Amino acid sequence: MRATLTVLGSGTSMGVPTIGCRCAVCSSPDPHDRRTRPSVMVEYGGHSILIDTTPDFREQAIRERIRNLDAVIYTHAHADHILGLDDLRPLTFWRDENIPLYASPDTAEIIRRMFRYIFDGDYKYGGLAQVELREFEGPLELFGARFIPVKVLHGDAIIYGYRFGSAAYLTDHSDVPPESIAQLQGLDILFLDALRKRPHPTHSTLENSVKLVEQIRPARAFFTHISHDLGHEETNTGLPPHVRLSYDGLKLEFEI
Ligand SMILES: [Zn+2]
Ligand SMILES: [Zn+2]
Repeated sequence: MRATLTVLGSGTSMGVPTIGCRCAVCSSPDPHDRRTRPSVMVEYGGHSILIDTTPDFREQAIRERIRNLDAVIYTHAHADHILGLDDLRPLTFWRDENIPLYASPDTAEIIRRMFRYIFDGDYKYGGLAQVELREFEGPLELFGARFIPVKVLHGDAIIYGYRFGSAAYLTDHSDVPPESIAQLQGLDILFLDALRKRPHPTHSTLENSVKLVEQIRPARAFFTHISHDLGHEETNTGLPPHVRLSYDGLKLEFEI
C-alpha cells in the first residue's frame, strides 16, 4: 500500500534557530534552516500515525493541516519528543474512542509520571486529552501496516526507532547495534540522527551517519535531529546524492 511520510520537525532538542543565538544558521533566511523539534507523520489507507509529540506539535499540526490522528508511537521519553502530548487534545475530543499512545514500558512509565494529571483519573477541571497509554515491546500491527521496533543506543539508554514497510525512522542514536542494522535491509527510505560534525555523547555525527548509510544501503537517506552547526544548503552540497538533510514539511512517498 502507498504511504506518505511527512517530516513535522527536523531539529535538535533546542530547535533551530536556538533562543538567543546569533550564529549564521540561526540567522539564515533559508526556510530549510528553521527546524522544529523532531517528529514524523505516516499516512496510509486514510489513517495517520504520529511518531513522537514534540513541544512544537501544535505549530506542526497547524502547518500541515492535521485534522485526524489514529495513533502515536513514541521513540523515548526525552522532553523534546513528548512535551507536545497535551496538544493532542483538539484531535481527541470529537472521536468515540481514545487515541492510543504506544510506548515501551520504560517510556510509558515516564510519560505516565510527567502527565499524571491526564492518567490519574481524579482531575476535576475537564478538557483532558482523550488518550490511552499502551505498552508494547514487539512489532505493532496498525491498520494493516507493521511497525517494527529497532533498538538503538542513545548514550547509555536503549531507545527505539521504527521500521514500517520500506521506510525506517531512527532518531537520537549514538550507536546502532549489528542486530538492528540487520533489521534495516532493503529500505527505500532511511532516517538517521545527524546532530552536527563534532562528536556528542548521545547523538550521531554527520560523518558517522554517512558511514551508517554506506553500511545499510537504503535507496534514499535523510538526516534529522539537526543542530544549528549544519546549514541546509551548504551541508547538502557535501553529501552523496542519495543522502540529504531532511527539513520541516518534507513529504516522501513509499510502500508500507
Ligand atoms: Zn531528541
Ligand atoms: Zn533523546
